[in-house]
Amino acid sequence: MSLNNNLNFICLVHYHEVGLKGRNRSSFERQLKQNIEHKLAAFSNVFVKRISGRLLVEVNSWEDTAEVADRISRLPGVVRVSCGVKLKQDINAIQNASLWILEQCEPYESFKVDARRANTSFEIDSMTINQIVGAWLCEKLPNKKVKMKDPDARLHVEMVEGSAFVYAKTVKGVGGLPVGTAGSVVSLLSAGLDSPVATWRLIKRGAYVTALHFSGRPEAADTSEHLVNDIVIVLNLCGGVNRLCVVPFGEFQRRIAAIVPSELRVIFYRRLMIAVANRVAIRFNARALVTGESLGQVASQTLDNIFVVDSVAEYPILRPLIGTDKLEIIAEAERLGTYEISSQSHEDCCTLFMPRNPETHARPNAVEAIWQDLPIDVWLDEIDTLIEVTEFE
Ligand code: ATP
Ligand code: MG
Repeated sequence: MSLNNNLNFICLVHYHEVGLKGRNRSSFERQLKQNIEHKLAAFSNVFVKRISGRLLVEVNSWEDTAEVADRISRLPGVVRVSCGVKLKQDINAIQNASLWILEQCEPYESFKVDARRANTSFEIDSMTINQIVGAWLCEKLPNKKVKMKDPDARLHVEMVEGSAFVYAKTVKGVGGLPVGTAGSVVSLLSAGLDSPVATWRLIKRGAYVTALHFSGRPEAADTSEHLVNDIVIVLNLCGGVNRLCVVPFGEFQRRIAAIVPSELRVIFYRRLMIAVANRVAIRFNARALVTGESLGQVASQTLDNIFVVDSVAEYPILRPLIGTDKLEIIAEAERLGTYEISSQSHEDCCTLFMPRNPETHARPNAVEAIWQDLPIDVWLDEIDTLIEVTEFE
């Protein structure tokens, strides 16, 4: 174990380079580096630097590498994170470190050495490194087998920018693009199952999110607000939600319910939500709205109804779940960690003043005629004064 004291521990962060060219690529790398630094702020002496198509994170101790890799792997843009050591490009040092790294993989039966040179400045080529290190390890580890296909432990040796990196442990990342590379959206976030997943899909593609929640307050309890708060905490494990805006919406639903024929109420709630979202998008400089709708899932999500709601939008409405089945959404919510929160029963504005037979095929002219008679701009000004905004770091 004395070798442990002389090693420089690292996490190597791998991301997709495909499709990233020119300035896109350097801004992507800069943003990912910044997101990692932010995520690791609690660790002292952790340094992040760019090396030949990867990010290198130097870590204090081997024990820290697992926790550091776990945190980084949750960040959008990361394909995988490997835990290992950094050494000088010296074949003896590489052999000793390889043995130590394999010890950390116990229990395993078989292994394979996988060497790579980023350039030819190191005089020994990859095949030869495989052979030299592999033969040496076989001698030191008579009880282990070399296996070319599906080995239990895959020992990577990478020669990059004057250093050697040796690693075997790898944590899978979430993929996608770094948060902050795609601009800003307003996501209509309920405490239900779908919209947290839809919001996550946008975060995963690099967007910053302003979450917008409509509460049934003061006509209904504020339970949904607490649940949405918890959902935002989960989403923010990887960053991405900049702020949460809560609209006490119950009073406006009451006003709609008093005027609009009962079967059209839901459509009017939705149109008003979108009209509010337009204003929030202007205020926070967003470029699109996001909802968790999935085609045909409930009455309000037929194409006819989507059509009459969409016509109020002044921004593109992104619906990342439009073609996703409920079971797939549930599985994703479980992975994301929002399923349990969303499964708690709650009152929100959706349960307020619900008609018995909501319209499933709204006619645009009929909706438009009633909409024109409502004091929508006055309501929107009023809502502006009521929105409660919580900013996150
Ligand atoms: P979810 O599971 O996201 O609540 P849902 O299956 O209940 O969706 P709808 O009630 O038709 O479906 O809502 C469609 C979309 O409208 C939601 O995914 C969400 O984006 C938005 N939405 C609905 N209710 C609210 C709310 N109270 N606050 C914010 N957005 C909402
Ligand atoms: Mg809902």
